[in-house]
Amino acid sequence: MRFIHAALLCLSVSLSAQGLAPNVTYDPAIPTLESVVSHKPGEAITTPDQIGRYLEALAKAAPDRTRLVHYATSWEGRPLHYMIVGSPERIARLDDVRKGMQALAAGGADAERLIADLPVIVWLLHGVHGNEISSSDAALAEAYHLLAARGNADVDLTLREALVIIDPMQNPDGRQRFVTSNLLGRAAEPDPEPQSAEHDEPWPGGRSNHYLFDMNRDYFALSQPETQGRVRVMLEWYPQVVVDLHEMGGNSTYYFAPPANPLNPLITAAQQKWFDAFGRANAAEFDARGFGYFIREVYDSFYPGYGESWPIFHGAIGMTYEQASARGLAFRREDGTLLTYKDAVTHHFTAAVTTAATAARNRERLLRDFHEYRRSAVAMGQQGTREYLIPPGHDPARATRLARLLASQGIQVRRADEAFQAGGGSMPAGTYIVPLAQPAGRLVRNLLDPDVKMDDAFLKEQERRRRERLPDQIYDVTAWSLPLVFDVPVVASDRAASVRSSEVEPLGRTEAQPGKAPAAPPLGYLLPWGSGAAAATAEALGAGIRVHSADEGFTHGGRRYEAGTAFIRVAGNIEGVAARLQGIAQRHGAELVPIAATWTDEGISLGSGRVATLKAPRVLLAWDSPTSSLSAGWTRYVLERRFGQRVTAMRASTLQNFDMRNYDVLVLPSATYTFNEDALRRLRDWIRNGGTLITLAEASRWAARDRVGLLSTDTLLRDGTPEREQETPAQAPGEQSGQGSAGAKPKADPEKPFDYDKAIEPERERPESLAGALLRVRLDRNHWLTAGLDSELQAIVEGARVFAPLKLNAGRNVGVYETADRLVASGLVWKEAQPLLAQRAFLMHQPMGRGHVIAFAEDPNYRAFAEATQLLFINAVLLGPGH
Ligand SMILES: [Zn+2]
Repeated sequence: MRFIHAALLCLSVSLSAQGLAPNVTYDPAIPTLESVVSHKPGEAITTPDQIGRYLEALAKAAPDRTRLVHYATSWEGRPLHYMIVGSPERIARLDDVRKGMQALAAGGADAERLIADLPVIVWLLHGVHGNEISSSDAALAEAYHLLAARGNADVDLTLREALVIIDPMQNPDGRQRFVTSNLLGRAAEPDPEPQSAEHDEPWPGGRSNHYLFDMNRDYFALSQPETQGRVRVMLEWYPQVVVDLHEMGGNSTYYFAPPANPLNPLITAAQQKWFDAFGRANAAEFDARGFGYFIREVYDSFYPGYGESWPIFHGAIGMTYEQASARGLAFRREDGTLLTYKDAVTHHFTAAVTTAATAARNRERLLRDFHEYRRSAVAMGQQGTREYLIPPGHDPARATRLARLLASQGIQVRRADEAFQAGGGSMPAGTYIVPLAQPAGRLVRNLLDPDVKMDDAFLKEQERRRRERLPDQIYDVTAWSLPLVFDVPVVASDRAASVRSSEVEPLGRTEAQPGKAPAAPPLGYLLPWGSGAAAATAEALGAGIRVHSADEGFTHGGRRYEAGTAFIRVAGNIEGVAARLQGIAQRHGAELVPIAATWTDEGISLGSGRVATLKAPRVLLAWDSPTSSLSAGWTRYVLERRFGQRVTAMRASTLQNFDMRNYDVLVLPSATYTFNEDALRRLRDWIRNGGTLITLAEASRWAARDRVGLLSTDTLLRDGTPEREQETPAQAPGEQSGQGSAGAKPKADPEKPFDYDKAIEPERERPESLAGALLRVRLDRNHWLTAGLDSELQAIVEGARVFAPLKLNAGRNVGVYETADRLVASGLVWKEAQPLLAQRAFLMHQPMGRGHVIAFAEDPNYRAFAEATQLLFINAVLLGPGH
């Protein structure tokens, strides 16, 4: 593509002719990017396939100084690699380095010898967001520079004192998506117009992976194979410095540490000091080369699931770097200057190699501080709360999943083999024990504490901004406590339990055994309902097994079974049902209780009319514009991968004209849909004929519009009055639509002094927006939608949606936010916003003809870590068509 090459040469005349680093000579034995993929760094957006080829070429040319490791495979089958670069002496004894680092991380006794011996490990992560393109090309340049530079003092120092681990492409599927759409829109010469097709990505854009997850939020949720692989290998090497290189809007400059407020309170003073040191080193280099940058703004370090923050709680200095994105090969900034792809690559490259050299220069102090971090975490856990105890509770599969999720991220978790006394009571056998006195203790606190507090000064400033209707500066959710989102009980114990226990295995490491048929096949099976039973039922229904669901509780054989218990009769079922069920139940951690008779001692009978026959649901999911890609992706993942439920994803534009007769369930992810009158009429007819419509978040708000007429309720404004679609609520400054609030204003009373504050208060305002907090939801235990849950759970609530509860004649409010005094379980919810949310609807069930509408006020599948609300969602899908 010579014409592009020529165009870029004109765009990049200001750059050093020697390439990305000035005055460096390179060893010709190391292949350049151009010699392998026919373009120089920054001249083209290197494709995932080319990245793999170049890594292999580098590894082949310098086997004594590299190790290339394929650590994960993306959903779409693309490999993820990391490349270790070091001196030949280090590479020759990599196993010793790894074992040494693990010993140092564990607080080994010979720390002094290890600190004297070990290199500092610098982990450079690139391109977690696939459309943040320049960092992957910078990664290739980093590897080349470290391997090929000759007589360069910084490179020599880096190789002597450090091991640099380069992960060039964390999200190959997203990058490929970007590269394809960029190429499709490409003009004859790269068009710098920011709104041109080559820059303007079609839905869903390249940021996310195949299931449309933002993987820079997935580190503790570990839902995606890319993140799972990354966390696994980071726990082999325990890096001291981790940099995650991103891109931001094209009109910015460059961002590096120190981060913005709020800071996670479990980040230590020593770590903050290092943020500063690395920031100053980068600043000096950027100043020397005339590159602009900013620090301490926008990018915070509070949520522990970022690529930069999760390693912090294992003791690393984790930092995010952000380069202004050309989102293509050239980008015209608002100030008229041109940003080229090569500029972007150069800046990232410069920050990355400067960081590695800075780490090398401080090898010993970094290792010492890392060791001290892990040691002090153990010491911290020896005061106050000593252990978190997680009893199996009423859904043991959910407790087990949480325990194994913790074990998957380097946290020591044990399972009690017998009952024991703790926290003033008796804990049953099978209770999970998470000691706080462990090197990963600060990660434990982050994930299991009910709340992680923001700094007071920061909160005060947000209050001020809120009063003045300025946008808040909160970057991400303010609550994520795993026991709350899993809705599992946790006991904080202030002494260490002495009980026989065994180590808990990470997720995915124990293979299910093939099912074996019992000697004498029983009459049938009961499956107490819960997360594991739901997944098992989805698979069983998919395999053609007939499953029934009890709408009320009963006692059988002296044991109490709650509403939602599944019943599977062997007679009249598929061939070999008993053996099949054994395997299915084991795979999903579901309890399968064989029964020899159906007689129940109390409650309903298994042949009662209150036992529904389930059917394998045929599920449609709205896809593509206008759906929120996150909501659509989370939903698809939760259905297909979490619960193994088949789903047909269909573009919303196609859905509008589609005959849904052959489907039982339609899920509408968060969006404001644009179905025309005819499509709405057919949708209502389909529901009346037995369809189950499930609406999530903004889709529920849309469903409640008068014109749409799917949900008989109103969304509310800040003052509690109904929002009406024909009137535009007031918006924050900057997003004004131009039409002010109309209507006659009351005449001023000349007797009364003018109330300035009242006078400037906007009318008809949307509710206050929440950045993301956990609110308590009271559940109607008599409704089949709540099967497997108790009377309360905690839901992630974000945005500004408030629903008036349904009237008794319209339907049932299956989940309602708790009263104001009990409303907030965790996170930041403005005091003034609480009364509006209290006792408003979270989950509504509105029957319509033979079908129904099930509306969630929020997204129950949020980042796929909210196990409790996900159970409500899968209940709607699996149980809806049977009711
Ligand atoms: Zn990013």
